[in-house]
Parts: sequence; C-alpha cells; structure tokens
Amino acid sequence: MKYFSTKNKTLAFSFEDAVLKGLPQDNGLFVPEYLPQLDADFLSQLSRYSFQEIGMEIARHFVGNEIETSILNEIINEVLSFPAPLVHVEENIYSLELYHGPTLAFKDFGARFMARIMHHFNKNKNKKLRILVATSGDTGGAVASGFFGLSGIEVVILYPKGRVSHYQKKQLTTFGNNIQAIEVDGSFDDCQRMVKQAFLDDEINKVCSLSSANSINISRLIPQSFYYFEAAKQLSLDKNKSLYFSVPSGNLGNITAGLYAKKMGLRIDKFISANNANDFFSNYLISENPIFKDSVITLSNAMDVGAPSNFYRILDLYGSTWNNIVKEINPYVLSDEKTIATITKCYEDNKYILDPHGAIAYSSLKSYLKYNKNLVGVFLETAHPAKFYEELERRVSFKIPIPNELNQLNELNEVYTELPAEFESFKDYLLNTK
Ligand SMILES: *Cc1c(COP(=O)(O)O)cnc(C)c1O
Repeated sequence: MKYFSTKNKTLAFSFEDAVLKGLPQDNGLFVPEYLPQLDADFLSQLSRYSFQEIGMEIARHFVGNEIETSILNEIINEVLSFPAPLVHVEENIYSLELYHGPTLAFKDFGARFMARIMHHFNKNKNKKLRILVATSGDTGGAVASGFFGLSGIEVVILYPKGRVSHYQKKQLTTFGNNIQAIEVDGSFDDCQRMVKQAFLDDEINKVCSLSSANSINISRLIPQSFYYFEAAKQLSLDKNKSLYFSVPSGNLGNITAGLYAKKMGLRIDKFISANNANDFFSNYLISENPIFKDSVITLSNAMDVGAPSNFYRILDLYGSTWNNIVKEINPYVLSDEKTIATITKCYEDNKYILDPHGAIAYSSLKSYLKYNKNLVGVFLETAHPAKFYEELERRVSFKIPIPNELNQLNELNEVYTELPAEFESFKDYLLNTK
C-alpha cells in the first residue's frame, strides 16, 4: 500500500514514511492510495472472527509487507487487549462502548496502535523521536498512555489551559518519564496551530526528528475502523433494516474511519455527524459552504474543534463532491443544555449513563428514529461518563460511579510547563529541551 498527500497525488510514500512523518511537507494529510476491498466471506461471517482477527484482517492491507505478519499480529493483540462491547440501550438503539481501555476513551485504540507502530519503525534508528500532540481533552492522555515507557521516543503534549477536565488534566500531567505536558494559555486551535507550525519550522526540524500524534496521523485512523466491524458483528442485523452509525465528532477522525470501513465493504446505510455548538461540519452538510469558526467551549470538550483537520480526508474520499458526501452523512447539532437533558432522560428511561459526547450521538439517533421504525442505530460512546464527573455531578441528580483507574490518579502529582499561545515560546521550549 502506498500513501499520498491529499495535496499531491504524484509523490508516493511508504506506510513507514507516512506514519513517522505524520504530516506531509505540503501541509496536506496522508491518505492511502485506495481502500482495500475486504473478502466477501470475511464480511458475511464476521461473527466467526475475534476482535483481534478482525483487526488483523484489516491492518494487513494498510501495512502491506512493511511489517512481518507475526510482529503485526503481536501489535494488534496488544492494542486490542480490551473489548468494544455493543450494549442495548433501548428499542433499536445500541451503544458501542469504546471506553474500556486504559484512559477510558476511544482514543486508546488509535494511540496504542500508533505508538507500537512508531516504536517498531524507530527501533533500529539512533535518533530520538519526538512526538508532538495537541489535545482538546482525550487525545493527550491516550497518547501519553500509549507511548509511556517506550524507549527512544519522547512525547510533548499541548493542552488548552482551563479547558480540560480535572481527570483529563491528571491523565496528561502525571506520567512523567518520557511524557512532557505543556499548558497553553489559549484554545485547542491555538495548540493545534503551534504544533503544525513546528512541523514546518526548519530550525526545529534540524535538531529533532518530529512526528505527530493527532488524528492527522494515518496510523490512528486505521485501528478506529476495526470497531465498526466489531459492532456489526455483535449486532447481526436483520437484512430488512437500515443501519445508522452516529459519531460524536470533533476533528472528524472517528467518522472518517467509519467511512473507510464502509468503503472497505461493511454494510452501513448512513452516518450521522453528531456535533456540539462547534458545528462546522454539520453546517457544511446543510449548506455546502465550509465556513471555519473559532472553537467555543462546551461540555463535550473533546469535540470543541473549529477547523477539523480530517475534513480534507473526507473531501478526498468523495472527490471533493458535496453531493456524494451528503448522501453518506447526516448533520446533527445539540446544545449543552439539551445534552444534559438527554443524559437525564436516558438515565430515567433506561438506567444507562451517557457521557456528554455520546449523549449528542444518542440524541441524534432518537430524532432520526422517531419516524422510522425500520432503522437500527448504533452510537459511539467515546468516553466513560466519569471522565466528566465534575461537570456532570453539578447538573444531574443521579450518582456517577468513579472507576478505580480514575480514583488512583488523584494521588499523583501534576508536572507541566506553562506557555503563552505563541509559536515562538513553543519553539524556544523545543530547542532548549531537545
Ligand atoms: C476526540 C473525541 C471525540 C471526537 O473525535 P474526532 O475523531 O476528533 O472527531 C469525541 N468524543 C470523545 C470523548 C473524544 O475524546
């Protein structure tokens, strides 16, 4: 499999190059040259395969012969060491719980795969690799956890001051060792801009070998396609019913991985892009004009993205044709206030606790299913509700149980560097800590 920049389809890259570079020099995004068609027998008999076997069947196409089968197998088994259960919430609505990994959010899938792939490719090189990552909440923790303790790799995480939750901050700042946390006095978009600029800066690139760990890295998207198949396997859908996947969307990585799964042959009738007030993509689906806005702060903070990077991968996938994109994806937007009302109502009706991100996706299914009993909807429950404990506790009347993984974090000391939202100070930091 070869990889190309969305901005240049003449220059081919290997999988290794695409993963280690993260971003092509022309400021586009790496995309695979084609999406593999999965075997018809495999697709019709998913229930015979374990989650790991499904992952392997998909990953081998993207990796080609660049990693030995036995090593790739080992990597997949380590990455998929926890389940993605499909839980029945109410009539025709299922929750695909993606929060059973170490940082209790779906980003563990992508981060663990990327970390192990990078570590594999970097093993025999003498130069230290620095991974830069901007996070709006969950990415940083998942990336830190994925890379923690891997030799020859250092991770620098930028997060927006005051805009990540108590436990998210704990997850970012308590690893130490090869993980460095930077608190930026600005927004997620500032963090993302600073990281992007660092990649284009000659002086920095001369002294460090840089890579990116945002959902712009293609190796994060690949494992995110696995669980769409894992969901379909558990659902064993009636042939006469239509299947909707609703995806809580921010940087659009998760939904792009779903679109990839569909192109690879998985039967999915429609996607819903579930957005909070940062509704760029839903607006695009409605009006065709892409109008980027500054991000605003919401309860579902991991989706507070004004200018989602993976938008360009989606355009690329559909030949930049709006008509084709709107055939695949429906828009949906929900305010914070209605998100809380949704969480409360779903608990009353079903005794199921939603997190603010999953709640928007659940709500979208309720509205699309209301008039069509022939639909089955799966929403991606992207984080454990306890990750948003403080925000929820004040607003709902039921108790949110805190899992041990989070409780233990309270004992640990936070270590981080504070920086203004200026590229120059980030550059100084990188040059002085190289
Ligand atoms: C990152 C994140 C999202 C958004 O996913 P994208 O791939 O950026 O669209 C949704 N929910 C949670 C909990 C997240 O951490």
